[in-house]
Amino acid sequence: MVSRVIPVEPFDLVIFGGTGDLARRKILPGLFRRFRAGQMPEGSRIIGAARGNLETSAYRDLVRGGIQEFGGSESSDGDSLAAFLDSLQYVSIDATGEGGWQSLAGLVRPDVIKAFYFSVAPSLFGALAERLHMHGIADPESRIVVEKPFGRDLDSARALNHTLAEHFREEQIYRIDHYLGKETVQNLMAVRFGNILFEPLWNNHYVDHIQITVAETVGVEGRGEYYDKSGAMRDMVQNHLMQLLCLIAMEPPAQFEAGAVRDEKLKVIRALRPVPAHHIVRGQYDADGDQPSYREEAGNPRSFTESFIAIRAEIANWRWSGVPFYLRTGKKLRARHSEIAVVFKDLPHSIFEGDQARHRNILSIRLQPNEGIDLTVTIKEPGPGGMRLVDVPLDMTFATALGEDGKDVPDAYERLIMDVIRGNQTLFMRGDEVEAAWAWTDPLIAGWERRNDVPKLYDPGSAGPDDSLMLLHREGRRWREIKG
Ligand code: NAP
Repeated sequence: MVSRVIPVEPFDLVIFGGTGDLARRKILPGLFRRFRAGQMPEGSRIIGAARGNLETSAYRDLVRGGIQEFGGSESSDGDSLAAFLDSLQYVSIDATGEGGWQSLAGLVRPDVIKAFYFSVAPSLFGALAERLHMHGIADPESRIVVEKPFGRDLDSARALNHTLAEHFREEQIYRIDHYLGKETVQNLMAVRFGNILFEPLWNNHYVDHIQITVAETVGVEGRGEYYDKSGAMRDMVQNHLMQLLCLIAMEPPAQFEAGAVRDEKLKVIRALRPVPAHHIVRGQYDADGDQPSYREEAGNPRSFTESFIAIRAEIANWRWSGVPFYLRTGKKLRARHSEIAVVFKDLPHSIFEGDQARHRNILSIRLQPNEGIDLTVTIKEPGPGGMRLVDVPLDMTFATALGEDGKDVPDAYERLIMDVIRGNQTLFMRGDEVEAAWAWTDPLIAGWERRNDVPKLYDPGSAGPDDSLMLLHREGRRWREIKG
């Protein structure tokens, strides 16, 4: 059963970059769904802000289009959509200019919760933070939400933290990593810390290794220019995969509370060992028939940027010493498939004569498709003919387990935005976590840049370069299948 959601107070949410792709595709359709679920209290308002000169009515049309395109079946509820659009306003503002700020100051109310979503390029964060203060729009209780990328290395992340800290306390800053808002990711914590079953096994005595895979089928497409300066390490590993790794590996926090959870995650990041070059495989997708190669899509024929990366990481602490964490992510792979797999060790001895197969328990946490968790267990194959063993999944697909088709399960953005309004930072990254993550990734990136490493080519629709398979093969392990 879905538990009751804590109600929120009326709020004013200002979305800088309110006409942009992220706002149209994720933020506003997400807010609409919360509105329909009765989670947006009466009197709440959403104010879009960008440089474009739009009337509020034109802005509402733009948002309606976004919701109809990306909002799923619920967008056909015309009455709700009209009521939701009524809560929208628009202000034309240049983050780096002075026009429009007085209008915004006149719109936001002093006596409600105020959140400012910076859905613009990070180079504008400083200007926005400064002007919100200069014009007396933000108060000590206001929250700001910032998007990835949070820096491109340790220095730039520090500078960004410093800029925000000039105007906002850490308790006011919500750094979004939407992976943390995914239902399954939170369920990972519920499974780990809400059951007695797993904790005794959750260590190097019983876990052989852990795999984290985030595979995409799309290429870089229109984002080529941005992506080519970033690559899979900066775009995916430093943030999303590291966050997943933290939740899998962290010690139980004393409470499910922002400070306690984030303290434990930080300890994991700080305990990551430096990774030697032979434990990293970088790849780039090749052309496929008339489908362009990565280099063609990125518009850079000499690009050394990776569209795929696999890393064998290790955590130097008592719990995880000797347990490899294999991370991989890439574009144009076989299927859209993200999962965390905890692969347990072999039985010390099989009592079943003639059973040559290796039977391993695997706890698999699927982020997509079909969010859910399954545990592979070994049972007797039904029927006569002796004790033949077979591995079967104990499956808990949330959509099935939680009733109907899981449509009440909010999407990551919806949940995170409502957490901002509630003032709950548990699922947001703290400044020191982000810096620690860069401190781990920076030397790895510097290493391959120094060596001028060329990424290995891989076929679109494959599981990445063969060298990535070898990363596990040479240790007698293999990647789990990438399947949609
Ligand atoms: P986008 O489509 O380029 O939209 C940028 C928005 O910012 C537009 O509304 C734009 O409107 C506004 N803007 C640009 N310069 C401005 C200025 N000087 N003052 C005020 N507004 C300004 O970008 P996006 O894809 O929505 O991405 C926004 C942020 O989210 C970026 O930091 C991006 O890295 C991050 N992000 C995006 C996604 C995604 O799926 N799109 C995912 C994760 C993170 P005007 O040009 O009219 O001002």
